[in-house]
Amino acid sequence: MCQHCERRAVARGLCGKHYQRWNVYGDALRERPTERERFTRLYRPDTSSGCWLWAGTKLPQGYGLFRTGSIRDGTRRYERAHRASWRLHRGEIPESLQVCHACDTPSCVNPDHLFLGTARENTLDMVRKGRHKPATHWPQMRRRSDGTWKPLAERSNIANP
Ligand SMILES: [Zn+2]
Ligand SMILES: [Zn+2]
Repeated sequence: MCQHCERRAVARGLCGKHYQRWNVYGDALRERPTERERFTRLYRPDTSSGCWLWAGTKLPQGYGLFRTGSIRDGTRRYERAHRASWRLHRGEIPESLQVCHACDTPSCVNPDHLFLGTARENTLDMVRKGRHKPATHWPQMRRRSDGTWKPLAERSNIANP
């Protein structure tokens, strides 16, 4: 029998579950970390800005990526880290709303720097912060596939009206 529970021992006097924990953590009694504990280990608070900067996997736009669920029961998902932060600290995100950054730092996951907004508010917020230039301004701007804007300077050797 396992030294820690009633199950049959399979190796080192441990059952399958306890043996696996010993194998992974070097400690048969260590509990699997909760989602929140894993999350906490994946960011580094920045003292000057107060941002919690994501130290795990990041998307090209700078957003962090957080793994949730498990392969075993088919709940494995990858979630944007700032959305996971909202979920873990504030609760579920209504389907019609987006989690936006008040600090304008995509990799930040500090819930105090996040707010819920509609897709429209998010765009207005980005325009206000000058991250996106309206396409109608001179010189004409074209949107790149990565969401940034590029002036159509090549075409505009026409005098500025
Ligand atoms: Zn056991
Ligand atoms: Zn921040």
